Amino acid sequence: MSEVILEDVSVSFDGVPALRDVSLSVSDGEFFTLVGPSGCGKTTTLRTVAGFEEPDTGTVEIGGVDVAGVPPEDRNVGIVFQNYALFPHMSVRENVAYGLRYRDPPGDVDDDERVDNLLELVDMAGMGERDPEELSGGQQQRIALARALAPGPEVLLLDEPLSALDARLRERLRVVIRDLQQELGITTIYVTHDQAEALAISDRVAVMHDGRVEQIGRPEAIYREPASRFVAEFVGDNNLLEGAVVSTDPPQVRLAGGGDEQATTIAVDSLPSENERVTLSIRPEDVRLGDASAPITLSATVDTVEFLGDAYRVHCRWDDQSVLVKYTGDAAPEGTVTLGIDPETVTVVGGEGS
Ligand code: ATP
Repeated sequence: MSEVILEDVSVSFDGVPALRDVSLSVSDGEFFTLVGPSGCGKTTTLRTVAGFEEPDTGTVEIGGVDVAGVPPEDRNVGIVFQNYALFPHMSVRENVAYGLRYRDPPGDVDDDERVDNLLELVDMAGMGERDPEELSGGQQQRIALARALAPGPEVLLLDEPLSALDARLRERLRVVIRDLQQELGITTIYVTHDQAEALAISDRVAVMHDGRVEQIGRPEAIYREPASRFVAEFVGDNNLLEGAVVSTDPPQVRLAGGGDEQATTIAVDSLPSENERVTLSIRPEDVRLGDASAPITLSATVDTVEFLGDAYRVHCRWDDQSVLVKYTGDAAPEGTVTLGIDPETVTVVGGEGS
């Protein structure tokens, strides 16, 4: 079993906290992603698992073993960084073979055969004699991946491995990485600042903010049930609208402003605080432009329309608040429009100021 467990891990640099009580548990064979804005502590978390940083407090376990004081080379982890860092003076084959030097115990196939297998695994068979400089960025990252996998690590750590590549290649390679991870069943921790990438390829995602974990969950849960205003804003397009508490028992809220209180009352599971004002999260695809028979209807005006190919991204204005709508009709809407909302798609993401 190669689970990775962090319990109450704090790390600081020169007295400035970079990680604050980070706890997370990655299951055997899971693809787990750390996502968040620059500086939130993703890389520090990964480096702490790898053994390049030691926690001030808290524990890190890999495969059931507390790895405090264990140097990186003895942690049985493979690492790929953002800037592929292949050795320029070595051929592709030598780069991958370099990864074998930590293999313990030695494998049952010879190194040449093992390198060939790895090159095939990352779809680079026959490229072994090339120099790294003769490869594209995407190919170099595949080789970096093969090198990290060479010793047969228990855990694979990937720190923004695709961020130096262009958007189309990134989308292609993320699927390659996911397929490879599934094929090998290797426990993987992946770091990215790209929330779409995180949702696309992960079993579970941890959203980080300011050295803390804000929410951990399956991509669907992170997207549909954001636990905080920060997650609701960071992950995907969203509308954060002002709401007011109508009653606490049963918990009910309404969209603040606009009109008839009855018409916008929404029953919710619970309220985040005693605050009278709350923030309501509604995804653009859950706002139905032109649906006058929806339980909640708002009369809005169209500000700007962007054509996306498969839909329009419509920026509307309702009661001085902007409402983003994903609209799949045939023509760009304009003027005054009705926006239909189903209360079940509305999430309360925090009291005022949260
Ligand atoms: P990015 O997406 O920009 O790589 P990140 O989420 O990976 O960001 P970290 O690199 O983990 O964030 O940094 C977390 C915080 O710790 C930041 O405020 C950063 O400036 C600080 N930090 C990281 N490494 C060091 C270091 N070696 N010395 C001092 N401060 C550091």
